[in-house]
Amino acid sequence: MIKASKMFLSTLREVPSEAEIPSHILLLRAGMIKKLVSGVYAFMPLGYRTLRKIENIVREEMDAAGAQEVLMSALQPAELWQESGRWYAYGPEMMRLKDRNDREFCLGPTHEEIFTDVVRQQVSSYRQLPLNLYQIQHKYRDEARPRFGLIRSREFIMKDNYSFDRDEAGLDVSYWNMYHAYEKVFDRCGLTYRPVEADTGAIGGSNSHEFCALSEVGEEEIIYCDHCSMAATAERAEFKDAPASAEDMLPLEKVHTPGTKTIEAVAQFLGIPQEKTIKALLLEIYRPENESGEPEYAACFIRGDRQLNMTKLVNALGVPEYAVQFANEERMAAATGCVGGFTGPVGLHDCKIIVDSELVGAKNLCAGACEADHHMINVNYGRDYKGDIVTDLKLLQEGDPCPVCGKPVKSARGIEVGQVFKLGTKYSVPMHLTYHDENQKEHPVVMGCYGIGVTRTFAAIVEQHHDDNGIIWPVSVAPYHVVITVIKPNDPVQMDLACNMAARLESAGCEVVIDDRDERPGVKFKDADLLGFPVRITVGKKAADGIVEYKLRRGGDVEELTAEEAGDKAIELINAEK
Ligand code: ATP
Ligand code: MG
Repeated sequence: MIKASKMFLSTLREVPSEAEIPSHILLLRAGMIKKLVSGVYAFMPLGYRTLRKIENIVREEMDAAGAQEVLMSALQPAELWQESGRWYAYGPEMMRLKDRNDREFCLGPTHEEIFTDVVRQQVSSYRQLPLNLYQIQHKYRDEARPRFGLIRSREFIMKDNYSFDRDEAGLDVSYWNMYHAYEKVFDRCGLTYRPVEADTGAIGGSNSHEFCALSEVGEEEIIYCDHCSMAATAERAEFKDAPASAEDMLPLEKVHTPGTKTIEAVAQFLGIPQEKTIKALLLEIYRPENESGEPEYAACFIRGDRQLNMTKLVNALGVPEYAVQFANEERMAAATGCVGGFTGPVGLHDCKIIVDSELVGAKNLCAGACEADHHMINVNYGRDYKGDIVTDLKLLQEGDPCPVCGKPVKSARGIEVGQVFKLGTKYSVPMHLTYHDENQKEHPVVMGCYGIGVTRTFAAIVEQHHDDNGIIWPVSVAPYHVVITVIKPNDPVQMDLACNMAARLESAGCEVVIDDRDERPGVKFKDADLLGFPVRITVGKKAADGIVEYKLRRGGDVEELTAEEAGDKAIELINAEK
């Protein structure tokens, strides 16, 4: 039991100016977190209690799933990242530093290299597999736009674990084992979430799921289908192209289209639907291994009414996302013959042509003519132009046909709280993590990696559990279960009753705060609502008769009960939900 008068606690009435979303506003107002600099937060006593509860839920489920806890260092030598090839590929998000002897290090944004290194030092036989190791630790990412408090920060706590198996079949078992453990973690945290298929970057295959807590403020767009089980991030969601058009190819023709720099303008000018146009996106690519500083040029073509899916594009190019920029049109025009607003695939040179797969079967489209104020009409793939890369490059959007069943898909927003990923041999091959089988034959270890954003989960819980007055903690992660608000703390009758109740509640496994501060009752009630303790028991005038008020933060009426009844109710509720 703790007395509020002794707590290191400060609540704010004002909304902090930098906070835009409820979890950020409420966690700052409740004094549970404090900002040090952009994207870096400290946890105050109440915040730290909730953080530890979330960590413990994660810990219990990881242990139950057979993973073993370790703690690796956050400071990582560059050499390991050079071995895996990610020292450059990781890009500006990595926090890099040098020691006094000029040796390079980073503050770990993730730990694949470190775990691979530790395991290769110890594992050499199939008898030592499978293996699953986890840690709960600070991670560092120099995010381009740290925002939303704990949701996208630069220092955050992650649970990460890595599985090591003999083969794909073993990995499959480890993967689904973790997937189900994640469901238990997020259920216990009180989150409403959806596991969705996620992008696997350069590794490929249907090998990753993200767990997204549903929320309007979520940065992740989820595409799902109500008619079948398809659910994926918008980045990942596949677009199934319609069958090729049966139209005959008409002769290619150049037309005068003055001032029509946009798809809307040219479609209107020519009186054609936007789906009969081709949109050009001009790009410069700076591959990390290219030290000349000169960009490679690429032009990407998709149907005029579609949106480009950047993730699909960078996967097709095989480069990290930060390596791709929209082009400086003047520079690119001089090198490739493109013309801003009038670029099409016909007439471009010295430039990689990337074509969305849908354009292959479409007929008689309109595209820029690579000449100011002119377009080409009746442009056809194969006859008039070809792509260096032809692949699905577009976003699947609400209402588009489901790639599995063809019915219109829906979209929702979510906060990515966790991700599970089949790595395969991506790290074990370059870093020589191998084992010998029964016949002394050597094989690379097959790995999986799994992450939960513990601090992001913290914020996601608040996003889903709050009202205008404050946080409404699920019992499982509440910093304390019960607040006993004493109306007149200098009245010994009231204080005695409060302390007796607290002692009884504690002996039954409930965590209790006694609000004995010398404040007006209104202030104490407001703070209790803001801080979100699941149960509030008020000890006031009727204390002499052993009567108190009982109220749940999640709603419902204030009840007048005997102290004993109120205690029974609280104990029952908390033990059922904790
Ligand atoms: P995002 O796409 O949101 O940047 P990510 O896919 O790069 O995240 P992972 O490498 O999969 O993140 O990390 C595992 C988990 O760590 C994520 O699911 C997320 O919950 C959490 N996480 C990642 N970046 C941050 C961050 N900047 N702040 C807080 N939590 C984060
Ligand atoms: Mg992720």
